[in-house]
Amino acid sequence: MNVLSPVLEESPVQKITFKGREYWLKRDDLINHYFNGNKARKFQYFLEQDLSQYKTVASYGGNQSNAMYSLSAFAKIKGLKFDYYLKQIPKWLKENPVGNFKAALDMGMNCIELEDYESFFQKMSKPKKTYHNFGKETLLIRQGGAEAEAEYGVKILAEEINAFAKKKGIKELSVFIQSGTGTTAVFLQKHLNFKVYTTPNIGDSEYLRKQFSLLVENEKLHPTIIESPKKYQFGKLYPEFYNIWKEINQETSIEFELLYDPVTLIVMNNYQKLIKGEIMYIHSGGTFGNESMINRYNRFFTK
Ligand SMILES: *Cc1c(COP(=O)(O)O)cnc(C)c1O
Repeated sequence: MNVLSPVLEESPVQKITFKGREYWLKRDDLINHYFNGNKARKFQYFLEQDLSQYKTVASYGGNQSNAMYSLSAFAKIKGLKFDYYLKQIPKWLKENPVGNFKAALDMGMNCIELEDYESFFQKMSKPKKTYHNFGKETLLIRQGGAEAEAEYGVKILAEEINAFAKKKGIKELSVFIQSGTGTTAVFLQKHLNFKVYTTPNIGDSEYLRKQFSLLVENEKLHPTIIESPKKYQFGKLYPEFYNIWKEINQETSIEFELLYDPVTLIVMNNYQKLIKGEIMYIHSGGTFGNESMINRYNRFFTK
C-alpha cells in the first residue's frame, strides 16, 4: 500500500458502530497511502491523462490544505514540478514544518509566497478561460480541486457504492459526506442511486447551494444540506469537534480527519434517529493534516 502509484484501487467498505448505531464506512482514506480521500477521486481524471505537454502543476490555497498535499503526490506520480501559491508562510511553520505542509515539502512542493494573495485569489476565481498567465506548460488546478474534471473520479466512487448496495441487497441507503467546496458531494449525488446528505464547512447552506449550481445545474441532482445546530467558522477549533473525533477514533480504532469530519459526524449523529434504512459515512482521507490540527488543539486546551 505504501507506494506512490498511479493506479487507484476500489476502496473497501466496513461496518462500524458509533454511539450505539451501525454505519457502513467507505474507506476512501485507504485508496493509497500518499494519494487518497476525495482528492484522489477529484484528481483521478488528471492522473489518467497524458500530461506530457506540461512541465508543472500549479495550484494555490492554505498552507495546511489537504488538496495541497494530494497535489504534491500527484505531481510526483506524473513527474511534474509542483508550484503552490499561498500567503506569506508563518516563520514558525517554515522553521518547523508539520502536517500537510511538511508532507508536501517532502514530495518536492515549490512554495511561492504572495504579498497580495487576495488579488491573486480573485483573479483565479474568474472563469478559467480568462487567464493564461501560467503559460502552456503549466496545468492549473484551482483551489481544492473544484474543477469539472472532478466528476470523473467521483462518479467512480458513486458506482462503487451503487454496486456495494446491490451486492448487499440494501434498498434504503443514506450517504453522509463532508463538504468544503461541495464538489465531491454534488457529483456524488449526481451519480448515486441513493440520497446524499452533506454539511457546509466553509460558509453556510447558501454558499454551498451556489457551489453546487456552478457544477451541476439541475437542482434535483443536488445533495440534501443539513446545517449544524451551532454555527462554526471554518478552520477554528471547538471542544465538541475534538471530542467527537476522539470518540469515533476510540470506538472504531480508525483515525478520522480533524478538519472536515467533526461537523458532519455531529450532524449525522443528531439526524440518524430520523433515518430509516442504512447509513453510510464516507471517510474522505486527509489524515496527514491531523498532526498540525492536534498541535493546535493541544495549545488550545492548555490555555
Ligand atoms: C477537501 C476535503 C473535503 C472537501 O471536499 P469538497 O469536494 O471541496 O467539498 C472534505 N473532507 C476532506 C477530508 C477533505 O480533504
